[in-house]
Amino acid sequence: MPDTAANSWDARAGAHMLYGFTDLPSVQARGAVVLTHGEGPYVVDVAGRRYLDANSGLWNMVAGFDHPGLAAAAKAQYDRFPGYHAFFGRVSDQTVMLSEKLIEVSPFARGKVFYTNSGSEANDTLVKMLWFLARAEGQPERRKILTRWNGYHGVTVAAASMTGKAYNALFGLPLPGFIHLTCPHYWREGRPDETEAAFTARLAAELDEVIAREGAETIAGFFAEPVIGAGGVIPPSAGYFQAIQPILKRHNIPLIADEVICGFGRTGAVWGCQSYDFIPDAIISSKALTAGYFPMGAVILGPDLSDRLQAAAEAVEEFPHGFTASGHPVGCAIALKAIDVILNEGLLDNVRALTPRFEAGLSRLAEHPHIGEWRGKGLMGALEAVADKPTKTPFPSTLSVSERIANTCTDHGLICRPLGQSIVLCPPFILTEAQMDEMFDKLEAALTRVFSEIGAG
Ligand SMILES: *Cc1c(COP(=O)(O)O)cnc(C)c1O
Repeated sequence: MPDTAANSWDARAGAHMLYGFTDLPSVQARGAVVLTHGEGPYVVDVAGRRYLDANSGLWNMVAGFDHPGLAAAAKAQYDRFPGYHAFFGRVSDQTVMLSEKLIEVSPFARGKVFYTNSGSEANDTLVKMLWFLARAEGQPERRKILTRWNGYHGVTVAAASMTGKAYNALFGLPLPGFIHLTCPHYWREGRPDETEAAFTARLAAELDEVIAREGAETIAGFFAEPVIGAGGVIPPSAGYFQAIQPILKRHNIPLIADEVICGFGRTGAVWGCQSYDFIPDAIISSKALTAGYFPMGAVILGPDLSDRLQAAAEAVEEFPHGFTASGHPVGCAIALKAIDVILNEGLLDNVRALTPRFEAGLSRLAEHPHIGEWRGKGLMGALEAVADKPTKTPFPSTLSVSERIANTCTDHGLICRPLGQSIVLCPPFILTEAQMDEMFDKLEAALTRVFSEIGAG
């Protein structure tokens, strides 16, 4: 129940905040959850209630909410050098060290890094890089960007245009020249009697046709998440990247891996592209890059794009782009520590160790008559609710099934995210087995309760 006293936290938040990506009827009916701090994978609200955050904040707080090493790295850097930019040939030592480290842990033999404050800005930055490059190389018409339906690439103007979500129409987006292909979700998009291999082949043929229709010489890049994250945790159909990459290569269209969610361990490898056995031309990173302890994004360019962009910039004496806080020394110091913690303090190992238990939990819950599919990779997973399992018919959206499940979980101390008709789970990498069992027990109780309330038990 919302606390309606005028001075309640809830009333103060509602009076002064324009909520983004928030189901407003739910908040109006239930009040906001106002948090003060966290303990491991739990967050604690102003009333002292604890919630297991099965979404790692927004996928990013992979080391939990009170990691002493990360806080200490931030404090030490604030004491030493609390802020600087990366313009005019001046740059902090931490920024140089992080760039070296990112190339070292990247799938690239060599390359270059460009910093932003967010994943959206990293995508916008790479779009501008590709446009800059095309003009410099005498191909000013090479501007179109290919992505997929349900792909999520952020909210700034280019990133929103890349994002394949219907809500962007509310802004009059996408911009012209942003083209969305079929989402590689075999369970939902596969035709009756179509094998998964035939489905993958159909999507590759679609890419070929779109390139032929638009003209290869007008296409600047193809951006894809290895596993679609905020579009509903959708791993690609089998062989998808192996089918599309040769087509893109044939037409000199760079393949960009948007690794904002997958990067730094979420799929069980350092990079999602490694989980799916392909090497992209560039990587977009953010979220777990700083374990969520600082807002930061990075464009990581492979050797070919690095060389060509360097040459294009030298030709006009600069790459005229950058943010005031690009390569912020505190963010870089935190990212260096976060990478060390993930790779060398057992977090990535724990993702791998927990994955079988995670998959077993998801597949057990998917036996429920109203769960149509479980899907996932590493420690990212989703359960999709359906009114009728054999025909995969969704519940009417007016029932808000996934919101009800998530709200019921919140009431019982578990935060998980409704996405379309799915419930998404992406717990912190520090989770223990007991905490994972707590997560599934609470979710199962919520599923049982909500399906029985709506008469679909
Ligand atoms: C979250 C996300 C973004 C946007 O990052 P912001 O920091 O929210 O701007 C871009 N791409 C993917 C794959 C994401 O998950």
